[in-house]
Amino acid sequence: MTKATHARLLILGSGPAGYTAAVYAARAMLEPLVIAGLQPGGQMTITTDVENYPGFPTTIQGPWLMDQMKAQAENVGTKFADDVILEVDLKVRPFRLTGDSGTTYTCDALVIATGAQARWLGLSSEESFKGHGVSACATCDGFFYRGKDVAVVGGGNTAVEEALFLTNFANAVTLIHRRDQLRAEKMLQQRLFAHPKIKVVWNATVDEVIGKTDPKSVSSLRLRDTRTGALNDLTTDGLFVAIGHVPATELFKGQLEMDADGYIITRPDSAATAVPGVFAAGDVRDKVFRQAVTAAGMGCMAALEAEKYLAHQETLKAAAE
Ligand code: NAP
Repeated sequence: MTKATHARLLILGSGPAGYTAAVYAARAMLEPLVIAGLQPGGQMTITTDVENYPGFPTTIQGPWLMDQMKAQAENVGTKFADDVILEVDLKVRPFRLTGDSGTTYTCDALVIATGAQARWLGLSSEESFKGHGVSACATCDGFFYRGKDVAVVGGGNTAVEEALFLTNFANAVTLIHRRDQLRAEKMLQQRLFAHPKIKVVWNATVDEVIGKTDPKSVSSLRLRDTRTGALNDLTTDGLFVAIGHVPATELFKGQLEMDADGYIITRPDSAATAVPGVFAAGDVRDKVFRQAVTAAGMGCMAALEAEKYLAHQETLKAAAE
């Protein structure tokens, strides 16, 4: 038999945006239900050391921080469902979502906090060194490469910004790009080319990440020349993969307004989408900042706006009765 669950506010996603929305919504007595998704805790659960989340004077661990956020949301009354949503219908009221478990969820307001995933190269060696020399976030992990040599792969704005940012810590930065031209804005390119710590390896892809197992660390990259196929090794202490992000918005295609990269569009200074009662927070709508703390801030905005929306709906309903 199909199960059915109704929530006044349903929150999709369990990263900093989802949990913060839950804390605010629960404290506003909205009895929110969080559906955790495929990766409970979100991208922070694949980060190790965190030193830039305010309130913690010493290094903390990403998964630990997410456990704390979840416990906080739970303590103020949030309910959780370990489910993965397969279908969403935003044309009906209440909104209707279908879970992998077979449960049908309905809700009066929805906060989408499904996040984004860094696009990875897809190498097994890359997977093996994630969090141990391979990262997709220079802002998060650059600090750990003081005085070391690092490489960045990618040719867009993110790759160039990350390479420039990494010069604050690293001894030398190598940007590896698969073509002979960058996609990044010209001004960023000028800064990159002018920087004495940065060199660019053109027409190359990363074939393998090579490192040690005890302690787990990266020592070099096997590069393949895209024109000749020739292989050669580049010595490095770390690899930053900056080949784009993919927002988790597949479920909402055709139902919500999105930009060309698939990020949900919200109103300026707001988490409201074009569909009344549907709000978006965190990396699913932000390709610029992508920080846990900015995602948390947007989660707060989404919950406050959802509260206002639900109160208004109830006033309208009472007036009609
Ligand atoms: P992007 O513009 O899509 O660039 C991705 C880069 O990665 C491209 O150079 C691409 O190479 C390369 N790439 C993709 N798959 C690869 C693979 N498998 N192996 C090797 N290289 C691969 O992504 P982004 O830089 O993250 O930027 C995303 C969006 O955010 C863009 O619209 C960007 O303008 C925006 N953004 C803006 C700012 C800013 O305004 N300050 C900062 C960051 C990002 P090709 O060039 O050969 O395709």
